[in-house]
Amino acid sequence: MSSKNIKAPYECMELKEYKLSDFVPEFSEFRQFDDLSRFGCENIEDNLIRLEKRGKIHFQNRVAICPSCKSHHAVKNGVYERKLIFLRIGEQICTVQKYKCKKCGKVFYSDLSSIVYPNSNITLPVIDCIENLYQIYGAGLHKIRFDLKQQHNIEISHQSIENILLNSNYEFNYETRSYSGYYLFDSLWVKINGEWNYILALFDVKLNTLVSIKLVDSEDSKTIYQFLNESLRNQEKKSIGTDLKHEYREAIDKLKVKHHFCKFHVKQAINKRFKDYFDKNQLKEEEFEELIDLKKHIFKILDAENLNDAKNLRKRLFERKFPQNTFTIKIVDKFIIPYFQKLTNHLENKNIPSTNNKIENIFQKIFPKHIKRTMKIEQGLLSRFMLKLNYWNIKNEKEKNHTSF
Ligand SMILES: [Zn+2]
Repeated sequence: MSSKNIKAPYECMELKEYKLSDFVPEFSEFRQFDDLSRFGCENIEDNLIRLEKRGKIHFQNRVAICPSCKSHHAVKNGVYERKLIFLRIGEQICTVQKYKCKKCGKVFYSDLSSIVYPNSNITLPVIDCIENLYQIYGAGLHKIRFDLKQQHNIEISHQSIENILLNSNYEFNYETRSYSGYYLFDSLWVKINGEWNYILALFDVKLNTLVSIKLVDSEDSKTIYQFLNESLRNQEKKSIGTDLKHEYREAIDKLKVKHHFCKFHVKQAINKRFKDYFDKNQLKEEEFEELIDLKKHIFKILDAENLNDAKNLRKRLFERKFPQNTFTIKIVDKFIIPYFQKLTNHLENKNIPSTNNKIENIFQKIFPKHIKRTMKIEQGLLSRFMLKLNYWNIKNEKEKNHTSF
C-alpha cells in the first residue's frame, strides 16, 4: 500500500460514504460547533463547515453541489489555499476543499459566499465591523484602522478600508434622506478604557428612525452644537426635544431651533426639588400644604390639554399667593415662567412629542440600564452596540415598509 492510499479519504473518498473525521481525529464534529464567534463566523451558512487542524482553518461544504449541473454527486479533489482576514484572529491562510463532479466532471470549490465576497480576502464580519466603526468615528480612517488593530487584531490598509466604505451599501446616510424636521436628542454614557465617552443620538420623530449617532469624549454644549449642526445640515429644523441638561439648551438655542423639554424629565426634576426641600426644612403644616398645591398646579400646566388652558393656568400661578421664598422663586420665576414655551411646544404643534420616550426606548432596548451603568466596559462593547443599533434600524425600516402598504 502506498502512502497515497493512506491519505485516501482526504483525497478521493465520497463525502456521503466517509467523513474526514472518521480518519482524522482533529477534524471531528466536536470542533465544528465550538465558538464560531472566535473566528467572526457567526453568520456562516449551514452548508459551509469550518474545521480546524493544528490551528489552521479548513472550509468544506456539508453537501457539495456542482454549480454546473446541480448534481449532488461529487468527490473531494484536493484543496487550495486562500488568505482570509477574520475578526480577532486576523489574517489566516486557510484551505478550501475542491470537488470534482461525478456527473459532468467539472472541478469546483466549496462555496464561501456566506463569509466572503468572491474577489476579496476580507471576511464579511470584518466589513460589518468597519462599517460600524465608520458610523462612530465618521470619516476618520486612521481611527478606524487603529481600532481594528487594537480591538480586533486586524491590520489592513487605509486604501482597503476606503474601498470597503465606498462599496458599502449601508444606508446610514446623512445626506440622501429628507427628515421631517421634528427630532429628539439624547446621549448615552459609556466608559471605554476607563474614560467616559458619550454616544450622541438624534432621532426623527415622524420617520421613527435614528438620524445620526456619534461617539464623542465630551458632552459640552459646543460638541453638541457641532453634532446637531452637522447632522441637520440642509435638513428641515422644526423642533428638538431633550431632557433638561443646560448644555443641550445652549446648543439648541445657538442652532436657533425650537427646543422642547421632555415632560417626564421635567416632572421628575420638579418632584426631586420638592422632595429635597421637604427633607431639608421643617415646615409648618400650612406651608407644606401650600407647596403641595403649588406642585399640583405646575403639573396641571405640564398636563394641559391645549395651549389656552396652559396659559390660563400660568396666569393663575401669578395671581395665587403661593409662598414666596428662594425655593419657589427658583422653580416658578426661574424655570416655569421663562421656559414656559419649551414646556408647552407640544400643545401648539401636535408633531412635537411631549416626552423623549421614543429615543429612550431605543437606548433601553439595545442597551439595558444595568449594562449601561457598569463601570468597566469591555472592549468591543461599542461595536456590539452599533450592531444592535443597526439591527434595530433595519428591523424598524422593515416594519415601517410593511405598514405603509
Ligand atoms: Zn456537474
